Formats: sequence, structure tokens, C-alpha cells
Amino acid sequence: MFGRAPKKSDNTKYYEILGVSKTAAADDLKKAYRKAAIKNHPDKGGDPEKFKELAQAYEVLSDPEKREIYDQFGEDALKEGMGGGGGGHNPFDIFESFFGGASPFGGGGGSSRGRRQRRGEDVVHPLKVSLEDLYNGTSRKLSLARNVLCSKCKGKGSKTGASMKCPGCQGSGMKVSIRQLGPSMIQQVQHVCQDCKGSGEAISEKDKCPQCKGEKIVQDKKVLEVHVDKGMQHSQKITFQGEADEAPDTVTGDIVFVLQVKEHAKFKRKNDDLFVEHTLNLTEALCGFQFILTHLDDRQLLIKSSPGEIVKPGQYKAINDEGMPLHQRPFTKGKLYLHFSVEFPESGSLSVEQCKALEAILPNKPSRGLTDMELDECEETILQDVNMDEEMRRKQQAAQEAYEEDDEPAGPRVQCAQQ
Ligand SMILES: [Zn+2]
Ligand SMILES: [Zn+2]
Repeated sequence: MFGRAPKKSDNTKYYEILGVSKTAAADDLKKAYRKAAIKNHPDKGGDPEKFKELAQAYEVLSDPEKREIYDQFGEDALKEGMGGGGGGHNPFDIFESFFGGASPFGGGGGSSRGRRQRRGEDVVHPLKVSLEDLYNGTSRKLSLARNVLCSKCKGKGSKTGASMKCPGCQGSGMKVSIRQLGPSMIQQVQHVCQDCKGSGEAISEKDKCPQCKGEKIVQDKKVLEVHVDKGMQHSQKITFQGEADEAPDTVTGDIVFVLQVKEHAKFKRKNDDLFVEHTLNLTEALCGFQFILTHLDDRQLLIKSSPGEIVKPGQYKAINDEGMPLHQRPFTKGKLYLHFSVEFPESGSLSVEQCKALEAILPNKPSRGLTDMELDECEETILQDVNMDEEMRRKQQAAQEAYEEDDEPAGPRVQCAQQ
């Protein structure tokens, strides 16, 4: 369609600019662009040409259609496709759309474009929930204090709506102070005007709104009802759009709750499945068992082995549809896995008769039978009881002491020898 073979280097340049591989996923591209764009932003003293290149590379590679054309035919094909003339967008537009209009450098200013609405910060709260809450679903009413625009003056701060230039900064919102660094060196420092908090306007004392005293905002209490749906996950977010602090000329940010699941004493969750550890005694493991498990919704599940079934230590069993409900499909559930360990009798020994009886019953025969000839060849040994934890601790301590001794300088040792 484009009638000429692409030069080899034609379709790698954009990847090199962003410092990613040709197979980079959309997420990696985004991350790479974000990092490089902040670093090279002219407001931060970066090279404007480099910044433009980054924006152009990202604009193409972040669009699957454009990326495909670029991969196949290179940069020129894109220019043809856009009707010649370069057709690039303003790199600042790309940058700002990427950051949702908010400057990542805080406080407006800087950009060459006109004043635009800032976006207020999101407020993030952790929300502690139990596994029961996520199994059954729940809702919480939470009372939050927030700033809202004063209703009396509609956020203007004045009775009449009139405002004048801030006398502290002559309306610029910024103040410049000069610091003397040395005999012939001065430094200019620019900072936000404290009198007007950067707005550049002031309200005369008698015109101030009586409700907010000219502050434009007042404190408000709001009760939010947070619905935790069945099957939600740890660290999942529940967002209340535009419910964060209000401020003049600002798009209100969101309140975001992040679920924090408390650990459960009995159930462990892995995605949509639940896991329970259960210990059987040796008799139960060999002869069968049944027990009651109280589920996360307080139902009593009867759990039992099939007749004649032997359960081995470490064995898993599963019950279908008794795991976690799926988020937004709560009638579908994962599995409930049971993980068995087997406890042997703590003490006591079996009599010769009992052993004989057991040997007759159990399918695996003992391997005691050795010939006299084999026994003649062997050395007898004695088995001692050990507490393995204690044993390991003692060995580690001994190794540590040996190491510390090695570390000592040679000096004192000589001294010791002389004493
Ligand atoms: Zn007011
Ligand atoms: Zn001011």
C-alpha cells in the first residue's frame, strides 16, 4: 500500500526515545513516558526539543493503530497518513492529557497556556474489612470532614462578588524575594504569595462574606455509605467521584477507599478459593472422620470422609462452590480446599500383641526381616531422642561465636597469652 520498503532504522526510533523494547506493553510505555516527560519537562529545565520528541513518540506508540503502522512502515508512513505537514500535536497537550490536566509539579503556573482549572487531590482512606465482610458483602457508614465551597457566597468569599488585586503580590499570586549569597551574588526566589494563597485577589474587610469570613470554603461533615460487594479483593478501591475537598477554581478530587482485609484465624483466601488447615489424629486418618466447619456466613458444614478411605499427611481435598463468591457474579463461587495434617499419638507404646494385631491388618508389612548374615556384617547403633529446634539453635550459636572470634584483631590475643 505504501509502495516502498521501509529502511531498517525507520521503525525503532520511537522505542529508543522512550527507552523501551519493541515488544513493550501499553503499561510499560506509559510508565517510561511518564518518567521521561517529567524529567525533560521544560518547566523543570529540560530540553524542549527532547520533550517534543518524547511526546511525539508516545502519541504514536500509545495508539494501537498508529503503532501498527509505525511498526510496519516507519515514521514517514504516519506523516503521509496524517496528510503531510508533520501534523503533530502540541506536546504540552499530550503531557497534560496524560496527567489528567493536573500539573505533576504542583501549583499551576509554568505552562504557557491560559489559566485552566486545577484538579483537586484525591483523598485516600484505608478501609479495614474482615473476610466475612467480603464473603457476605457489607456496607459502612462513614462520617468525613471535608471542605466545601461556602454556600452563602458560592465560593467567592465576598458579599458583592467584587474582588481587588492582592496588595501583597499585585495580583500575580507570586512573590519574588532576593537573597544575598555572597558579596557579588544574589539569588532570586519565587514563592506563592501567602496573603492571597496564590489567587492574586483580595477581598476588602467590609465586603468579606460573614459565613466563611472571606475564606471561600467552610468545613462540612458528610456521611458516605460505602458498599463492600461480595467477592471484593484486598486492596480493591471504592471511589466516590468528586467528594474530596472542594476549592475555588478546582475540579474536586475523589474520595477513594482501599480495602484492607484482616487476616482470618481459620480461612485463608487465594483469589476465589478458600483454604482451611485441618488436623486429623492417626485413628481418624486411617479409619475415617467427620467434623463440623462453621463457614464465613455461619452455616455449619458437615465434612466427612468416604467409608474405608485413608487420608495421608499433607493431602488436599476440595469442596466445590464453597469458596469465595466472584465479584459481580456472587452466585458463582470458588472452591474450598481442606489441607490435612495427621497427628500421631503423643506418647505410649504398643504391646507385642497390639503390634501383631496391627501388622495383620495394615497393608504395608514391616521391613524388619533381615538375615543373620546381613546382621553379622552390621555395626549396632543407638537412636537418641533430639529436639531439632534446640539442636539447630545451639549449632548456629556456636558458629556465630567462632565467627566473632575470627573477627577480633590479633593484638589482644597475644596480650592474653602473655598473662
Ligand atoms: Zn462565604
Ligand atoms: Zn497575593
